Amino acid sequence: MTILNASMRRPTTPAVSAPASQDWKTRSVCRDKVADDFFSTSTAAKERARALCVGCPVIVECLNHQRQSDDAIYRWGVGGGLDPDQRRALEVEELLGNRPDLVMAQLLVSPRWLYRLRRLKAGCRSLEGMVAALRKDGLVVDEVTVRVAVWWSGGQGARMARPARLDRRSWRARLRDEYADVVVMLHKLGVRRADIAAYLGNPGKDGEKGVSEVLKAVAEKSAAAGVELAA
Ligand code: SF4
Repeated sequence: MTILNASMRRPTTPAVSAPASQDWKTRSVCRDKVADDFFSTSTAAKERARALCVGCPVIVECLNHQRQSDDAIYRWGVGGGLDPDQRRALEVEELLGNRPDLVMAQLLVSPRWLYRLRRLKAGCRSLEGMVAALRKDGLVVDEVTVRVAVWWSGGQGARMARPARLDRRSWRARLRDEYADVVVMLHKLGVRRADIAAYLGNPGKDGEKGVSEVLKAVAEKSAAAGVELAA
């Protein structure tokens, strides 16, 4: 699975060019709406807000704005079609040099492609599989772009592949068995445990606990190896 871009450094150039103005805000579909759904913790409310975003003509401008903004308000609430966990996962993607093509992501959730995207989402175990299929369709896409499109379409877009049909392991067991190197690498880059879990697609407490378990196991193994070497 291709999880990491070759460049695993924080980009030295801006991920997106600065918008010329804030005029796009006057065209947003949420400008006259009550913000409750956007800042609710209810899944149903967040889904309503996300659906509003996906029909918004300035979703690309809005998400670009949020990606560049340090404003604390963007730590909460749905915006640019993503919830805070998804935006944190996107920040980790960009730390790894993986920058989405938001115009292409918007195309993927347009009426022309949405059905295809949903079929692939149901049939493929991973973003990598979806990318391969879409490239066969003639689209120039990468995993982070497809990931944003899957989020916008209401899917999870997890970085971890779905388990095979007969795989009964828990998410945490799969994390430990298959993704420990990714967890350690992100930890060394200074990514918080909660954000590592969000990046991999399990932003809740269970995900954070799984990341802590992996780091603890790796530390114990290293310590044991150190004792053995010294002995
Ligand atoms: S994308 Fe969503 S949050 Fe952004 S302006 Fe449109 S409706 Fe509002």
